[in-house]
Amino acid sequence: MSTRILWLGLDGADESTLGRMLRTGRMPVLQRALSRGTVAPLRSTALPITPAAWVAMYTGMNPGKTGILTWKQASYAYDPPIVTHDAITRHALHRRLADAKRSFASIGFPITSPLPDTSFVLAGWDAPANGPICNDAAWVDRLSDMGYFSEDEFSTEKDSLVRNLRARFRIARELACEKTWDCIGLFFSFIDHLGHRLGAANEVTDTLLEITDAELGTFLASLPDEPVLLVNSDHGFGTFERAFSITQWLASRGYLALRSSLIHKTAEARGLENVNVRMDIDWNHSRAFCVDAIGSYAAIRVNTATLLPAGTVHPRDVTKLSDMIRDDLLATTTETGDPLVANVWRREELFWGPMTPYLPELIVECVPDTVALVGKWKSVEGDLHLDPHTFVHQGTYHSHRPAGIWGSSFSCVGELSVEDVAATIYGLLDLPLPADVDGTDRSGRSHNKATSEPALSPHESNPYTPDEEETVRRRLEALGYL
Ligand SMILES: [Zn+2]
Repeated sequence: MSTRILWLGLDGADESTLGRMLRTGRMPVLQRALSRGTVAPLRSTALPITPAAWVAMYTGMNPGKTGILTWKQASYAYDPPIVTHDAITRHALHRRLADAKRSFASIGFPITSPLPDTSFVLAGWDAPANGPICNDAAWVDRLSDMGYFSEDEFSTEKDSLVRNLRARFRIARELACEKTWDCIGLFFSFIDHLGHRLGAANEVTDTLLEITDAELGTFLASLPDEPVLLVNSDHGFGTFERAFSITQWLASRGYLALRSSLIHKTAEARGLENVNVRMDIDWNHSRAFCVDAIGSYAAIRVNTATLLPAGTVHPRDVTKLSDMIRDDLLATTTETGDPLVANVWRREELFWGPMTPYLPELIVECVPDTVALVGKWKSVEGDLHLDPHTFVHQGTYHSHRPAGIWGSSFSCVGELSVEDVAATIYGLLDLPLPADVDGTDRSGRSHNKATSEPALSPHESNPYTPDEEETVRRRLEALGYL
C-alpha cells in the first residue's frame, strides 16, 4: 500500500507546550507515534506570523516568492487587502496534490479561503463568517450534524474549543472511512489564540492537547494501517518583559510624522482598518513606517515615491535611508543603556524571488526579551492615543517566537524550516518536487525537480465583499493582529 500521511497542524506549538506535554507523558499516543522519528525545532518565516508560515508550508516557497509576509497582500499600498488563498492557489498543496491525482483533505487550516476547487477543503477561522466554509457540497449539510460550527474555533470558551476539536477529528474519521485518501491535514489554532491572552503554558491549552491526543488515538485505531505522521506548528510562543514600539521610535527620530497621537476609530465609516491607516500619519512628511510586528520582529517599509501613493523618498535614496535606519536602530538603547535591537535585516538577506521587491525593506529583530509593537497605545477619555513620550514599555507581553516544532514518525536530520513541510509531503507521496519549492524533502527519498507554474506576481484583487472582509478584519483585530 502506498504511503498515507496524517498531518497535524498545531498553530503556535513549540517545546514549551507540545514538547513539554510529550516529555511528561501527557500525550502518550503521539509520543508513541513519534518515538522512532524526530521531534525538533522548526524555523518559522522571518516574521514568525501565522499567514506567512502556513503559506510557506503549503507552497514550500519563501515569502519572496509568494509575497506573503503579513496578513496583508504584497502591494505598494498603505492598506492592502487581507491575504487569501487566491494569492497562492496554483502553487499550494491543495491544487498540486490534486493535479498529481493524490487525494488531500485539508480540515480547518487558515489561508484556505476563498475555497479552492481542488482537494477537500474545510476553511479555517480566517474565512469570512458569512461565506462558504467547505468546498464539498455533499458535506456542507453534514457539518452541523457532526457538531461542527466554525464560530467555535474563534471562541474563548473551553467547551466550544473542545467541541470544535472533537468535530474536526470526527470529520477526519468519516472522510477516512468514506474516501480513498493520501493525506489528511487537521488543523487547530487554540495554542495560538489562547497563548495571546493567557501565555503559552496554561491549563486550558494543556487540557485541549490531552484531548487532541485521545482523539488521535481513536482516529488511528479506526484505520487499517498506521499512517505516516507529521506534526507542525507555524511558530512558537513566548513571554516578553519589554516592548519596543516601532512607530513611536520612527516618529522620535524624524522618519515618520504623526499629525496627532489619536488612533482613529473609524469602524462605522470605513470598516476596521490597518493600524497604519488608523494612526494619524502625515504620509506627505513620512519617510518610513512600520508595516507589522510580531514577537521580537517588525517590518519597516520606506515611503518610496513612485511606488506608494504619498511616497516621499526618491527611489535612488531608498538604500541610503534603509542603511541609516538600520544603523540608528542598532544604536538605540533603553534609558539604562541596554540594546533593544539585535539585528536589522535587509529584505534581500532573507528573501529571494520575484515578489521580494514588494516586501518591506527592513526586518527588525529585537533582543530576545523584547517584543516589537507597531505602536503602543492607551485609552484616554474613551479615545485611543499613541503614547508619544517613549518607545520602550515595561510589562508582560505574550507573543510569537521563531522556533515552532516539527514532529515526524520518521527520522530526519538538519535544520528544519517551514518550507520543508510541502517538500516532505511531496517526497512521502513519491512526487517530484516542483521547481519553485525552496524547502528540503525530509522524507529521505530523492526526487527530480519537476517543471513548475509561472512565478507569482502581485495582485490586489479582493475576492471578498466589504461585509466579508470586515468579518475577517474584526477577527484579526480581536487577536491583536491589525
Ligand atoms: Zn500562528
